[in-house]
Amino acid sequence: MAKYSIVVPAYNEEKTLRLFYGAVVPVFESLREDFEIVFVNDGSTDKTQEILSELASSDKRIKVCRFSRNFGQQAALLCGLERAIGDAVIAMDADLQDSPQAALLMIEKWKEGYEIVHGKRRKRVGESAFKKRTADLFYALTRKITGLDIPSNVGDFKLYDRKVVDALVKLGEHDRLLRAQTAWLGFKQAFVEFDRPERVAGETHYTVKKMVGLAQSGIFPNTDAGLTLPIKLGTILGGLSLACMIVFIVLACLAIDFGGLVAWLFPTVGLLTSIVLICQGLANIHTAMIYKEVQNRPKYIISEEINF
Ligand code: UDP
Ligand code: MG
Repeated sequence: MAKYSIVVPAYNEEKTLRLFYGAVVPVFESLREDFEIVFVNDGSTDKTQEILSELASSDKRIKVCRFSRNFGQQAALLCGLERAIGDAVIAMDADLQDSPQAALLMIEKWKEGYEIVHGKRRKRVGESAFKKRTADLFYALTRKITGLDIPSNVGDFKLYDRKVVDALVKLGEHDRLLRAQTAWLGFKQAFVEFDRPERVAGETHYTVKKMVGLAQSGIFPNTDAGLTLPIKLGTILGGLSLACMIVFIVLACLAIDFGGLVAWLFPTVGLLTSIVLICQGLANIHTAMIYKEVQNRPKYIISEEINF
């Protein structure tokens, strides 16, 4: 049984894989404990698979899964987590932006008893102001909408205890953002700070389209805000319309002119619209509940059991 598993999603990483292997293996060898590296080739079209096969043929600690096409980094991470057998699993990017030395600090934290250790980016070299701004905005928005405590400046570079891995792979949803899922899971969490350098070679695979997809996977499985919006709007609008009607009735009783029949148009239309919105909202609540059933998340997650 490997003590540590390093999970590495790799999409068209022919330029970085050997550098990654050369940098990471000596660091983990220095621990003098068993480890494996699980590479998940996410449908690469370059020489990624050849290089991984070569590394795996000379080093049995290297395991490789190859996807039939590009399914995305989150799916690759899930595959790695499902295949990893370590007591602690560390997810790292293939481009050496996640520091192997920081991984050692994560292991120290794990040995202190923490079950999830996040790599927190101190400096982010070479990232555009646009990327940093949009990332900050995304996290602020996701926190607000989902109520999940997703930490800032934290990506997928994390250590997971075996218990956490077993819980994560049970989350049934199709669209996954590990950062949001780990926030939902709980467990004892700690941080290790590191400076994030530029990619050692090659180029980022994240286009604006992919980032929007990622944002969607973080928000929608974790909230029913969109579905409950009509009932909230309907209730507010209905309340305002009723208040307006009461004011009109009072004004009419006092024989004060307020515009007569035409003025009644606003609260009447408002009230009718609010009824439509509330009915829509009720139907949406059913949809939200069906979604939760389909998502089939466990009802609770146990972090420790004693004397069973
Ligand atoms: N990656 C992947 N599938 C994808 C895109 C990226 O497996 O569709 C991998 C990529 O090979 C790398 C990690 O995910 O190991 C992070 O990707 P990248 O470095 O391009 O993202 P950035 O660091 O620029 O956010
Ligand atoms: Mg990168």
